[in-house]
Order: sequence, then structure tokens, then C-alpha cells
Amino acid sequence: MPKASETTLEIDLGALEHNFDYLKSRLESSTKFLAVVKAFGYGGDAERIARKLETLMVDYFAVAYGSEGVGLRNAGINTPIIVLHPQPVNFDILIDRCLEPCLYSARILKKFLKAAVEKGQKSYPVHVKFNTGLNRLGFWENDIDFIAERLEGREELKVVSLFSHLAASEDEKERGFTLNQIENFKKISREFDEKSHFETFKHILNTSGIINYPEAQFDMVRSGIGLYGFSNDPEIDKQLKPVVTLKTVISQIHRIEPNESVGYNRKFTSDGYRITATLPIGHADGIGRQYGNGKTHVSVNGKKALIIGNVCMDMIMIDITGLDCKEGDEVVVFGKHPSAEDFATTANTISYELLAGISQRARRVIIGD
Ligand SMILES: *Cc1c(COP(=O)(O)O)cnc(C)c1O
Repeated sequence: MPKASETTLEIDLGALEHNFDYLKSRLESSTKFLAVVKAFGYGGDAERIARKLETLMVDYFAVAYGSEGVGLRNAGINTPIIVLHPQPVNFDILIDRCLEPCLYSARILKKFLKAAVEKGQKSYPVHVKFNTGLNRLGFWENDIDFIAERLEGREELKVVSLFSHLAASEDEKERGFTLNQIENFKKISREFDEKSHFETFKHILNTSGIINYPEAQFDMVRSGIGLYGFSNDPEIDKQLKPVVTLKTVISQIHRIEPNESVGYNRKFTSDGYRITATLPIGHADGIGRQYGNGKTHVSVNGKKALIIGNVCMDMIMIDITGLDCKEGDEVVVFGKHPSAEDFATTANTISYELLAGISQRARRVIIGD
């Protein structure tokens, strides 16, 4: 592994392949696999990650917004791409770049149909999303007649899949609720297929769904966080490899006298002689203020060092008293130890938020290809 000489987000495509293979090994060989690469590939590098997964024959990609899909097409990705949360202002661009929208409401269906008519489309692939309990995005069961009537005899659009999203697939206490969502989805799917002429495939599972409800894998699964090395289950996490490691370096070391303070608003005051290191990473890079003031560790030459004082925009200070290190040395913010999940937990959040929040300022370095 290359040593960092500045703040670097290292992206291990070998680990990505390992996670992809592992998740696939838990599924039927006929089940299609959709890789979720929204939000820059959960903060990594969507284009490099998608290119790697395309060589591994992934079946679909999903992004949240149209612009993310355009980025993938510009990077040469030819695999089908679902846009999970499209906005009407971008429908022409979606069609121009062969991006497949999720239709989630009457407004979206009508507007996308209109765009497809205006652009002279035939059998343009779309995916219909149903709300089965998350109450976020999707048609309701009693919208089926509306959808079927609107699309009957229209050759512009072709519904290729029906899907839904689980609200609590990682939470064993919500098993009853989840099973009910799955049953609802089955019922909705049956009714839709009876009332329309489309031949649709079905999907409902995210990563935790793959782990906890494999019996509901239907025709495809949609995995994001698992590909990046996390599963919301510590036992399963042992089988996965973290794809990204956030590294930085020690810019400067200070010797602090008793009762001196460190950082803005003097939030840290020393109770004795301390040695601190200043690192070139801050809340503008995605390490928010919630990680400051003695809650979270980073790793300096394999040893834990606490983040002290307020996190600044471009810097954090850590306590390296007693640690063997010097200016210019590499610091691992998160990766294997601490993991992104452990790091996030110290501030009561989850790996998803931490990973997706690492800003574009951190230089991306690809390894393991
Ligand atoms: C983000 C997202 C996923 C991926 O979920 P993970 O928990 O990261 O696997 C799947 N489906 C939809 C609709 C999503 O928005």
C-alpha cells in the first residue's frame, strides 16, 4: 500500500471484487445483481467502481439522480442504469443517455410518458416503485389500476421491473414488519402483472435484505453498502473487506504545557504536558465537528490517537502523547482499524453517512486493480 503524503481516499478495487463475490455467493446464481453507486459510489469514486463492476458482469447500476447517471455514461459505462429518484427537469437527458427512470408517482409517470412521446420513443425501459411501508417514495397499492390504464396500449414505455424498498431489513426486532412488506410486495406484483401486459422482473432486497431475507431475493437484489464492505451485521462484516481507507499525514507537532488550550474556543485544555499533532483534514473533507472533543480515535503507526478540541474546516488536532511518530508520518483516519463503522458509531451515526460525506477534496487513489 502506498504511504499517503497528503489526505487521500484509497479505493481498493480488489476488496470491491471480494465483496461482490461474497454477496453473490449468498444468492441463487440466477439472481441478477444491481450495484448501487449513488453519491459518488458511497463517497468513493463511482466511475472507477462502476468500471470495475462492469468487468465483473454486474447486471445493473443504480444512482439517485440523473446527473450521476450522465457521469457514468460519460465514463463509458454501458450497463443499464436505474435512476432511483429522477426529477422531471432532467427527463430529456435521461432519454438521451439511456438512463432508466424509477416511476414513483402519478406526476412522474405522466411527465415521463410525455417526454417519451415527444422524443418518439418505443418501449423505453422504466421501473415502477411501490411503497410497502417505508413511506418515502413509491406508488401505493391502490394506484395499480391508474398505472395499468395509463400505460395500456402505449408503446412508448415498457415497464421492465417492479420494486420496493425495505424499511428495517437490518433490524431483527422488525422482522414481522419486514415480512409484511415482502408479502405486500408479492401481492402488488401479482395484481400488477394480472392487470397489465408487461413482463416484469421483481426486486426488494438491499444489502441487509440479502443477509437476512434471502428467500425474498426474487429476480434481482440491489446492494450498496455491502459492496463497500459493511453489512450492518458485525458477524458478516468479518467476511467483507473495507473498500476505502481515508489517510492523511502529520503536518506539525506541538508540545503543550499544562493548562494550555488547543483549537477554536479553547475546547481542549491540557491537564499536563501533552504532545499534539495537527492533520490536514477537517469538516470540509467530511470529518464533521461531531467527531471532535475526545470522542473519536484515528490510527498513528498502528496506535490509537484521540481527536481533541473542535474540528476545524481544514484541520483536526490529535493527542499523540507517548506515541512513536514524527511530522510527515501517515495517519489512518478510518479503514481497517478503526473501521468506518466504528468511527461513525463514536458520533452516533452510520458508515453510510460517514462514507458518502467524504468530500471531493480528498485525493482519490485506486489500488488493487
Ligand atoms: C440506497 C438504496 C439501496 C442500497 O442500500 P444498501 O443498504 O446500501 O445496500 C437499495 N435500494 C434503494 C432504493 C436505495 O435507495
